[in-house]
Amino acid sequence: MALLNPLGRSEHERIKHEFSIVYEVSNAMRTTLKLDQIFYMILTALTSHEGLGFNRAMIFLVNKNENVLEGKMVIGPHSGEEADTIWKGIEKAKLSLDDLLNSYDKFKRDPESRLNTLVKGIKIPLTEDMGILALTILEGMPFEVTTEEAKEKVTPLIKETLQTEYFVTVPLKAKDKTLGAILVDNIFTKKPITKNDIRILTMLANHAGLAIENSRLYEEAEYLSKTDWLTKLWNSGELHKTLEKEIEKSRIGDKNLSVLMIDIDNFKPYNDSLGHLEGDEAIKKVSFILGQKSRAGDYVARYGGEEFTIIMPNTSKVIAQATAERLKKDVANTFTEKDMPKGVPSLTISIGISTFPYDGTDRDTLIRKADMALYEAKRAGKNRVCVYNPSSEKGFFKFGRKKS
Ligand code: GH3
Ligand code: MG
Ligand code: MG
Repeated sequence: MALLNPLGRSEHERIKHEFSIVYEVSNAMRTTLKLDQIFYMILTALTSHEGLGFNRAMIFLVNKNENVLEGKMVIGPHSGEEADTIWKGIEKAKLSLDDLLNSYDKFKRDPESRLNTLVKGIKIPLTEDMGILALTILEGMPFEVTTEEAKEKVTPLIKETLQTEYFVTVPLKAKDKTLGAILVDNIFTKKPITKNDIRILTMLANHAGLAIENSRLYEEAEYLSKTDWLTKLWNSGELHKTLEKEIEKSRIGDKNLSVLMIDIDNFKPYNDSLGHLEGDEAIKKVSFILGQKSRAGDYVARYGGEEFTIIMPNTSKVIAQATAERLKKDVANTFTEKDMPKGVPSLTISIGISTFPYDGTDRDTLIRKADMALYEAKRAGKNRVCVYNPSSEKGFFKFGRKKS
């Protein structure tokens, strides 16, 4: 006779059911590279009755830069009553695990639960005295908080947030790295979490770890393809795309948009006397100032060489000019005469400005006109800001654009 587990399933049926869950979730995770959507799928598989049926499940990820574990997402009701209503609703609607896994958009639209907000605020330093979750990462193994000894390792923050002392954690691993942890509990049903639950949880966590790693690698590659390696500013390809989008937004919203073209003055003698590595450092310093001192919402890019562009949405010519003057001053104050080798002129910047819709209504025209204004600034003696005006054109065509 087949052994029956508490759900009335035979051992064989249970194993079949569990494998089908892992299969369905890993297939579903392969359809997306969005980290949040992957979290949602894992947590749905862990909590839904069609899945593993834990009362609550949450994900934490390691933030390597800060050496902390951060809460990312929770799925699970606040109370037993809410749990009952949710699951009865799902049973009535006859939603399968597959339906639930594909309901991410609805989940995103629903208001965020209080528990989710609390968990997203959690940051646990990754040291051995920081409790079970930190230990899950540091030791790379699951923890069952059932014994008194284990309970003592639960930090007050976690106790307070979860309102339970009984839970299980498993690490999220990809190859040899531990990326984070999953925590599950049965706070409402009080159903014990068995060794078998932990086994299947670990299996799921291993698939999840790989999906998370893939998503991160993709995000990183996407980020690298849009940025400049030296300065970490947006690159010119991204600049062109963004400028087009922002012009369209300005057109629809009937707003101004200003474009700043910036070129470092006297960069060649600096480079020639100090070498290219020092030259690179100067480019980084200027980039830093442009990034730090431009306003939130501005979009700073390295156009190429020692040239930069800033897109300023919703910005009139007058405001753009005032901002440009400030940037110019900040750069001039950074490279003082005493930082320069003898006989090498100071590093400053010149800036040209064009504004939508007055100077142009398309990307290339706005860039060209900001460029004309920039070369007027150069001709007028450098370390200055010029806004485009039609007379800039005569000079530009007469002298031509100098190549950097
Ligand atoms: P102006 O004041 O008229 O702008 O002249 P300039 O000396 O700044 O400019 P020029 O166009 O004559 O030369 C720009 C130099 O920038 C030439 C090139 O070797 C250098 N350069 C371009 N890109 C890089 C880079 O990534 N790193 C370094 N170190 N130098 C670069
Ligand atoms: Mg230059
Ligand atoms: Mg140049």
